[in-house]
Amino acid sequence: REQLPQTPATTQTVTLDMVGGLTEVVAELRQIAVSFRHPEAMARWGARRPQGLLMYGPPGTGKTMLSRALANEIGADFREIRTPEILDKWLGGSERNIKQIFRDARRYRVPTLMLFDEFDSIVSYAGVGGDAASQALNAVAGIFKQEMNDLIEENPNVIVVATTNFPHRVDDSLIRSGRFDVKISVPKPDEASRAEIFRKMIQGLIGAHEQPGFTMFADDLNLQALAHASHGMTGADIKEVLRRVQLTKAMQDARTGGNVSPISQDELLASVRELLGPR
Ligand code: ATP
Repeated sequence: REQLPQTPATTQTVTLDMVGGLTEVVAELRQIAVSFRHPEAMARWGARRPQGLLMYGPPGTGKTMLSRALANEIGADFREIRTPEILDKWLGGSERNIKQIFRDARRYRVPTLMLFDEFDSIVSYAGVGGDAASQALNAVAGIFKQEMNDLIEENPNVIVVATTNFPHRVDDSLIRSGRFDVKISVPKPDEASRAEIFRKMIQGLIGAHEQPGFTMFADDLNLQALAHASHGMTGADIKEVLRRVQLTKAMQDARTGGNVSPISQDELLASVRELLGPR
């Protein structure tokens, strides 16, 4: 069989510099990273390093990206715990899974950031309805709270980040108990932030792909106009705008043997409009 040409792996590290907009959030995360990298300074002043972060905001606004970037800034291992690893349809199954995850975490000897995505679906605030399903969910939240308390007392190497699109669904007592000592709102980007996201993503692509003799973007780009046209989009949407243009260009490239013009402002605008759809 013919060997397919290898595409280079793209497991790029994510840094806080790559985040567009969200200036205050990034500043706060940098501060948290310092508290991990300088335990001696924290100890001298009796300052407690935050070990629980709740990030909330609409889908695609960069919560997962920020968590990865924070781990990178701390120099911590990144461990994402996906909801299916936890939720179990059998009675007591989810609680057992949570206990196992935290039992492992108590043994982490290197700084580790644990990310719980879609946190609301794990510890959904099930209200006061007394049915079996909501009682089971509340039990899961109770176990989580207890395990997180124990973990934070025992293992200073761990930082727990939970992200959610629905903060009001997260069991109040879990937040109030003080274990999530930092709550971070991650809103949709405004126009200036969208311009910055476009700029950073395009710079990233240029850095990764341009080389002598290959120009990826035309020099007529107007980030302001792109930001304006992409009203309502998130960072994830902007990434999709670029992904579509990249794919179109690659297809042309494959057809023509590389005879393709760089990505132009018009092509980017067209991709924005296509993704937004008829309004
Ligand atoms: P969800 O709530 O759906 O899990 P999320 O808030 O975790 O979404 P991410 O998965 O972090 O969003 O965002 C998807 C991608 O969009 C990121 O990998 C990143 O490339 C890009 N992105 C989102 N927001 C930004 C931003 N502010 N700056 C740069 N890139 C961004």
